[in-house]
Amino acid sequence: MKLLITGGAGFIGSNFLHYMRKAHPAYTLLNADALTYAGNLTNLEGIESVPDGSYRFVQGDIRDRAAMEPLFQAGVDAVINFAAESHVDRSIVQPDIFVTTNIVGTQTLLELARAYKVDKFVQISTDEVYGTLGAAGLFSETTPLSPNSPYSASKASADLLVRAYHETYGMNVNITRCSNNYGPYQFPEKLIPLMIAQALQDKPLPVYGDGLNVRDWLYVEDHCSAIDLVLHGGAPGEIYNIGGRNERTNLQVVATILEALGKPASLIRHVPDRLGHDRRYAIDADKIRKELGWQPQFPYERGIRATIEWYAGHAEWMERIATGTYRSMSAGGGSND
Ligand code: NAD
Repeated sequence: MKLLITGGAGFIGSNFLHYMRKAHPAYTLLNADALTYAGNLTNLEGIESVPDGSYRFVQGDIRDRAAMEPLFQAGVDAVINFAAESHVDRSIVQPDIFVTTNIVGTQTLLELARAYKVDKFVQISTDEVYGTLGAAGLFSETTPLSPNSPYSASKASADLLVRAYHETYGMNVNITRCSNNYGPYQFPEKLIPLMIAQALQDKPLPVYGDGLNVRDWLYVEDHCSAIDLVLHGGAPGEIYNIGGRNERTNLQVVATILEALGKPASLIRHVPDRLGHDRRYAIDADKIRKELGWQPQFPYERGIRATIEWYAGHAEWMERIATGTYRSMSAGGGSND
């Protein structure tokens, strides 16, 4: 099977490439990524050096049809679209790029997948398209879309286009909507790696508002196994929610990090709340469990400890980001464009 994986130099995409390498060593993996600030080829060390042509990196923008078309011309069996602008805070400051990448980019890929009769299109979406929850209740696949940030609105728009390509053209699509991921290779602008990085340097840990916003944490490898199941077994046109049922407040997450690193709670600084900050997300993942047999393997306590240890043990990876040198890293190996 030949897979076109977009955004494979980012957090989840790179974890997915590592996962698929192990789970399906015979597959050919084509990684197309524009290498924005969030794209980091050092996330892929160990994959790109395999010289047998079963992995190839192409620097390209999903909004650019001319850049993407040759990849489809060469033949792909499935597209898994991770490429996106993914940070809510950035979408509040600069919404326009979220519209072009997340909506126009997805539509460009859909159009090419249609033209080249690709067997399957998997869109990686987010639970944020459902909006926010009160103290009780869970998002199911039928919860109405009610996005609150420019980021989530752009992701919801992309989801509707994916749905429309199924309804209009009969394309075999799936949409996955997952809760907050955590694990190795996450850009340290997001809560968990940011807080670990700050704590390791004895710097203040900035917590939005009262810190009681709740997120449903999902270890990234469990997300990858879910996507693998959807890729191979998802019914055409279906949406699958993916979540770990690991609800924690931001303050609880931060407290665990401080405790694991032996740092004092006095490092916590409450800062003014994010605009339009959703209060609570929580996912009902019954459908993917029952229909595709998905079983997450990483209880939160184990996943968070492993994650803290990973960042603490990868000072060089963190340093390359802090200094910006990760942006000039070549992919190495002979199989890259
Ligand atoms: P990320 O920001 O770490 O990575 C995004 C990748 O996409 C980067 O490598 C970047 O270079 C690439 N990219 C950006 N614009 C591009 C473009 N125009 N053309 C080609 N490549 C481009 O994001 P992530 O956290 O890995 O998220 C991956 C996907 O999962 C996104 O679609 C995101 O919406 C979704 N998601 C993420 C989370 C999470 O917790 N991280 C939760 C739910 C859904």
